[in-house]
Amino acid sequence: MPADDKRTLAAAARRYLAREADAGRGDLWTLAAAETPRKRAPRTRSTIEETRPLEEMGVGLEDLAAPPVSPPGDTLDQVASEVTACTKCGLASTRTKAVPGAGTGKAGIVFVGEAPGAEEDRRGEPFVGRSGDLLTKMIQAMDEKQVIPGVSLSRESVFIANVLKCRPPENRNPLPHEIEACTPYLVRQLALLQPKVIMCLGKFAAELLVGAKGTIGGMRGTVFRYGDAKLLVTYHPAACLRNPNYKRPVWEDLQLLAREYQTP
Ligand code: URA
Ligand code: SF4
Repeated sequence: MPADDKRTLAAAARRYLAREADAGRGDLWTLAAAETPRKRAPRTRSTIEETRPLEEMGVGLEDLAAPPVSPPGDTLDQVASEVTACTKCGLASTRTKAVPGAGTGKAGIVFVGEAPGAEEDRRGEPFVGRSGDLLTKMIQAMDEKQVIPGVSLSRESVFIANVLKCRPPENRNPLPHEIEACTPYLVRQLALLQPKVIMCLGKFAAELLVGAKGTIGGMRGTVFRYGDAKLLVTYHPAACLRNPNYKRPVWEDLQLLAREYQTP
């Protein structure tokens, strides 16, 4: 068969599988996982010489520049109870429930999203709407494929957090002063969790933790550092819902996560 025909067929098959997955009839993660991964050597880059000051983003986050070490006596429960009562930005008056984060983080992996959506705001739990279903499937597929042999992966064993702990009205983008007010909670959570790998989901988490402006397309595939943790970047699940073509690169990024998890 000519190569062009093969590509057309493969693209048609992917579109079909994506429609099936979106209709809840298939698991694109499992299907993607069955394909041979394209090998790409990870680029390693220190965040130190390559990053631009956060102030350029309109975010003056001295806390982020400091090495992430927990104050004595701090706990995840303590952070969560402060978040629940927090009124440091205007989102306190529009939220239903604050969403501190979920999971134990015992597996050494943290996923960081953007901000709660409508369902998260109702329930006080991160990633429980449509994007959340996709993230949950991603984690389950990693577990089923044993991408990290011997490490069981679930919503419970990882930690799932967001840059903002309260929902912006109409799911608008986080504003710089909201990010500035809220980031100390995420920084404390990361300091307590001491994860091996942090995966940023989408632009807001990526730019914040990498400490530089950029696109996901430009940042994914690079192994950054956040304290002792490796820091990776991928597309937000909501982007995958809008454009199923992102699912393939996201699966590749999850495999990169697994490889980086297993190497020093
Ligand atoms: N999108 C996010 O970034 N976080 C959530 O918790 C839900 C949707
Ligand atoms: Fe506090 Fe963050 Fe909620 Fe703003 S978004 S009220 S800073 S918890």
